[in-house]
Order: sequence, then structure tokens, then C-alpha cells
Amino acid sequence: MDAVFDIGIIGGGPGGATAAAYLAKAGLSVAVFERETFPREHVGESLVPATTPVLIETGCMEKVEQAGFPRKYGAAWTSTEQRDIDQMGFRNLTNGFRSAEVLFAERDQLGVDRDYTFHVDRGLFDQILLKNAESLGANVFQGVSVGEVDFSAELPVMHVRLGRVTTPVPVRMVVDASGRRTHLGNQLRTKVVDPVFNQYAVHTWFDGLDRGALTVNKEQSDFIFIHFLPVADTWVWQIPITDTITSVGVVSQRSRLRSFDGDREKFFWGTVASHPGLLDVLKNAEQVRPLKAEGDYSYGMKQIIGDRHVLIGDAARFVDPIFSSGVSVALNSARLASQDIIAAAEAGDFGRHRFTTYESTLRRAMRNWYEFISMYYRLNILFTAFVQDDRYRIDVLKMLQGDVYEDEPEILATMREVVRTVEADPHHLWHPYLGNLRAPAAAPGF
Ligand code: FAD
Repeated sequence: MDAVFDIGIIGGGPGGATAAAYLAKAGLSVAVFERETFPREHVGESLVPATTPVLIETGCMEKVEQAGFPRKYGAAWTSTEQRDIDQMGFRNLTNGFRSAEVLFAERDQLGVDRDYTFHVDRGLFDQILLKNAESLGANVFQGVSVGEVDFSAELPVMHVRLGRVTTPVPVRMVVDASGRRTHLGNQLRTKVVDPVFNQYAVHTWFDGLDRGALTVNKEQSDFIFIHFLPVADTWVWQIPITDTITSVGVVSQRSRLRSFDGDREKFFWGTVASHPGLLDVLKNAEQVRPLKAEGDYSYGMKQIIGDRHVLIGDAARFVDPIFSSGVSVALNSARLASQDIIAAAEAGDFGRHRFTTYESTLRRAMRNWYEFISMYYRLNILFTAFVQDDRYRIDVLKMLQGDVYEDEPEILATMREVVRTVEADPHHLWHPYLGNLRAPAAAPGF
């Protein structure tokens, strides 16, 4: 590795692979260093339609279609709570559950040419994206871990480790796509942990799970399902992975782990037990992977750009996964950052000021997601009520499609106003349903 690469990328997940594809396509010399050997397992299996234009532009879409991942036409939410139907926005099901759902086809989205996206086995999906980057000319080094990046000389030097051997690799510019390991955020001490959200997830795969058991309409059983549990700030995802395999994850506040002796098995099954119908569905299926836990998420960065470096995807920011935003943010941040990097390379100047368009666009998008998610946790009946209300449904769907990169969507201002009214009026019908999590208006890095 003697030659100086134009771009060195830390991590070959969806963010790193997509940046590599755009940059290699533009004729830059790119090296991707990925510590694992693909395929490897990864959480984050349900996509939103904002991934579609990026998959098309990078030439991955055909390969993703050929892989036969289940198509995702929409999203559905269920609840067991017996609240007034008009207030909640849920429809009653004959089996005693309540449900609300949206179809992506209800709203046209710029650059999105199909009415579905995908649920993916991330082992296979990430491998497709990384191989595609390689086929476009990126140099991909798997099983190679990046250590310190030295920014003290004119060119950054990435210290890459293969087994016990560490090699210095000078590059013109570094893209940090290391995911929740937040490689540069840790090294440069720019990471800010979210002061409010400290969620914890435990997840696994089941074979033979009856995906239609809790649905209002069996034809929608391949939607993503978010099952609200009768426990504060707690929900379960149900994501089809193949015809027979389903991913299930329990998300709750990390503090609840203590009441289960810190044991992820007890946490998973103990939490699901609060919803007997769901417990039955899981007990009648076969668990085919060990339970895996994810914590330490929800953070921002004081800086996501600097001289000769940018941070993308989870390495730049992570917000709660309730609306399946992560992979689309990884792909779109890679797209946006690549536009600035290509222009910087043409100008022969990789200074920080070259990446400000990327920074402002990504920060705006993340603020939109963060506010949407915060309002969901603060007053989740507002979300389901809006989904079922013709005045707001399409605007909420716009957010759910991941269409968040333009100005602040109007729906956020409307939701903010309703939340304020409910908070200020203890007699409001919705007041008893206010959640515990209250996001700050402006925390550093958010
Ligand atoms: P990653 O996919 O994490 O890729 C980073 C890569 O960098 C990894 O392969 C890692 O091995 C490599 N790496 C790290 N450090 C180094 C190093 N030092 N040297 C070399 N390589 C390194 N998103 C969705 O879109 N839909 C969902 O349904 C969804 N559900 C989620 C549920 C939970 C509980 C959580 C925690 C997340 C969820 N996400 C979801 C988010 C999603 O997982 C991420 O947003 C997405 O994987 C980000 O992609 P990335 O490329 O930025 O990072």
C-alpha cells in the first residue's frame, strides 16, 4: 500500500460502501478498510424508500432486487391498550388488538420509482453494497482495522492493522464510516451522548413466526410491524427477513434492565410477557439465533467535518431506530458527503470549508428525524392519531419515507404545537398519555 490513496474510508458498512461507490465512480482512488470479514451480522434490517435513489445511482438496485429480499410496501403499528378509538387513531381488530398502517404508494417521492422498499438480511445486503463498490474500482481491505488517524502532518496517516502488523497509510482525505464505534468521534473527543434517550434493544430471529397473527389485514403481514407494549417507552419490531424467518427486537429504556438482573434473556421474555398475544406468537415459533443486545446509542457529534475528514452514517450521529431511519441516513449522508468531496478533489483543496453544504444538509435532516422521534416518545397517541387523520396523513408519511433533507417539514411544527397544548393543559384528554422522555430544545451536537 505504498501509493497515496485519495480517500481512505474507515468501515465498509452501507455508509462506507456507498461513499466508496460514488467516489470511485468519479475516478478517485479509494481504499476501504473493514475490520470484519463479510458477510457479517448487523442490526438494522428494515429500509425506508429514501434508500431507493441512492441504490439506483450507485448501481446496486438490480443486485438488491435479484437477492430476493422481502418487499416492504408499508408500516403498521399495533396496540393492546383499550383507549378511546377516536382519540388514539387506531382501528379495532376483531381479535382485540388495534392497528394503524400506511402504504408508501400513498405518496409520490422524488427519485423513488417503485412503491416498495426492502427488509434485508444485513449480512447479504452489506456484502452486495461493498462488492459493488469494489466492482466500481474501490480497493476493499477486509479483516483490516483502522487504529489512530494522525492528522499532524500535511496528509492524514491512517494506521491500519492486519493481525499484529500495523501499517501507516497516508491518504488525502479520510471518511469515517465506522458506525456506532464512532472511530474519529472518540479519537477527536467530539462525541456528545444524548441526554434523554438511553434505549436498549435485545433482538433475534425466529423461524415460522405467524406474521399475520396481530394484523388487521393478512395481506399486510410483510409490512414492518411496531407493536406498542403496555410499558412506558417500550416497543417491539417485527421485520420479515425471508419467507419464514422474522426478526424480532424489544426496545425499552436501559434503566429497565436492572429489574431483570441485567440479564438480556429475562429482559426480552419478561418485556414481551406484558403483551400475552405477542408472547404466544413468539412461543409458537422457533428462535434460530442467540439474543443479541444493542446499547450505547443516541448521540451526536460537535463536529462532523474538519480539514481532510468527514463523518458519515452512524459515525456522525445516531437517533433512536423507531422509524427505521439508520440505513437511509447512512446512504444519503454518503451521497451528500461524496458530492462535496468530489468538488474538493477537483479544486485540489480538502479544507473544512469545502464540506459545509454536506454538514448543514445532514444536520437539518437529523434535526427533523430527532424532533419526530422525540414527539413520538413524548406523546405517541399523537403520532397514531395523525397517521389516521386525512389532514396530516400524507405529511407523516413523508417523514416515514425518509424524505427529510429539505426544510423542516410542516407537520413537525403542527405536532410541536399540539404537544405544547397538551403539556400546558392538565385537563386535556391526552394529558395522561404524555411519556416520560422529554427532549431538550437544543442540546450541544443535536
Ligand atoms: P455500520 O453498518 O455499523 O457499518 C460500520 C462498519 O465499520 C462495520 O462493518 C464495522 O465493522 C466497521 N468498523 C468499525 N470500526 C472500524 C475500524 N476501526 N476499522 C475498520 N472498520 C471498522 N436502521 C434501519 O435503516 N432500519 C432499521 O430497522 C434499524 N433498526 C435498528 C435497531 C437498533 C436496535 C439499532 C441500534 C439500529 C438500527 N438501525 C436501523 C440503524 C442501522 O443499524 C445503522 O444506522 C446502519 O447500520 C448505519 O450504517 P453505517 O454504515 O453508518 O454503519
